[in-house]
Amino acid sequence: MTDSYAVIGNPVAHSKSPQIHAEFARQTAQDIVYTAIFCEIDAFQATVARFREAGGKGVNVTLPFKHEAWNIVNHLDRRAIDANAVNTIEFKDGQMAGYNTDGIGLVRDIKDNLQCFIKGRRILLMGAGGAAYGVLNPLLEEQPEHVVIVNRTLEKAQQLTAHFEKNGGVATGSISARPYGSLGGERFDIVINATSAGLVGAMPALPNDMFAPGALAYDMVYGTTTPFMQFAQAHGAKVADGLGMLVEQAAESFYIWRKVRPQTALVITLLRGAAG
Ligand code: NAP
Repeated sequence: MTDSYAVIGNPVAHSKSPQIHAEFARQTAQDIVYTAIFCEIDAFQATVARFREAGGKGVNVTLPFKHEAWNIVNHLDRRAIDANAVNTIEFKDGQMAGYNTDGIGLVRDIKDNLQCFIKGRRILLMGAGGAAYGVLNPLLEEQPEHVVIVNRTLEKAQQLTAHFEKNGGVATGSISARPYGSLGGERFDIVINATSAGLVGAMPALPNDMFAPGALAYDMVYGTTTPFMQFAQAHGAKVADGLGMLVEQAAESFYIWRKVRPQTALVITLLRGAAG
């Protein structure tokens, strides 16, 4: 029998997940169907329950429900605990297990697809929302020299570092929360934009000389060239958008559900071709 999966979000019509999972299923000969489900803001739990009662095997969760998903599952894996958010649920043995695959998706894209090593490097992480929570520990597992976290609302960056220092077993001194205005004169090897500023054509003010030679500027937003990407390109950085992260986090969800690893590079190429 065909197994059913879905992505639940609001909005969700733009989601590339059905296309990505259909391609993974085709490649790996898995008999699944994957749909997108629009969910009213106050109906997340009921929507998940309905899908599960209808025989669904698992769901991906996107904005704005990732924290609510974290609250309703019976089990959380370590990355979901760290992230305070769940983007993948597996229905199994009468239980709901919650995972967060965003961070591993980012790390795989940076290391495997973009061939950029993280160990020993100085990282600037912009933003302190759900995406920043999701990626911080997987980044730290790669042993960068230091991760500076900057956010428009400094207090949220401070809360993020406090959360990880308290719960995530983060080595003292490996992360710090700072305001954007404090970055003058510093250089970073990898700059990750985990803000949603690019979606509205904005970017935080950044110093012109912040990119170390050969630096990678990574914007988690995809499907558009953001002001941050333009800025980084103009100042000599190698630039990447978040499409690879999207496909890699989906691949990890697929692996959790199906125990088979799809070929992500093929799907990234396919999606870029479709966009172009
Ligand atoms: P979120 O929880 O709403 O957080 C948004 C963050 O952006 C906050 O830190 C916010 O700062 C900052 N921000 C928004 N507008 C800004 C501006 N004009 N200037 C400076 N900072 C600004 O969102 P999220 O879940 O973390 O997602 C962030 C982005 O990552 C989204 O664009 C999302 O699409 C993308 N994302 C991509 C993937 C992928 O697979 N590629 C996965 C997850 C997320 P304040 O705290 O000051 O409001």
